[in-house]
Amino acid sequence: MSAECIFCQIAAGKVPAEVVYQDEQVVAFKDIRPVAPVHILIIPRKHIPDLTAITPEDKELLGHIHLVAVQIARELGLTERGFRLVNNCKDEGGQVVYHLHFHLLGGRQLRILG
Ligand code: AMP
Ligand code: ZN
Repeated sequence: MSAECIFCQIAAGKVPAEVVYQDEQVVAFKDIRPVAPVHILIIPRKHIPDLTAITPEDKELLGHIHLVAVQIARELGLTERGFRLVNNCKDEGGQVVYHLHFHLLGGRQLRILG
């Protein structure tokens, strides 16, 4: 845990969030500024700054994040219609919060970009 990291603090329950799923490895909560009817962030509890910092030991965790994303999407009725799972990596990728997270977006027609 990084004391200055907002997502570490959400994972620790020290900053409030609308949590929709959690287990020993991950937490999923609603994005504070949603850009789609469904906009959920899925984060590992482990502080990984960005996607380039993953290591082979994170393989199981990354697979788990994908399984959780599909489970949440299914519960929200998105698996037939489709959805988007996005990671923004570093500055030019549009990353603002430097704790690895995946955006689960759905509930409207998403264009190729945006
Ligand atoms: P990114 O640009 O990929 O780093 O996305 C960061 C996302 O985190 C943005 O969509 C923000 O709206 C969202 N966000 C930032 N702070 C919070 C918070 N305290 N609770 C929920 N979502 C947040
Ligand atoms: Zn963190």
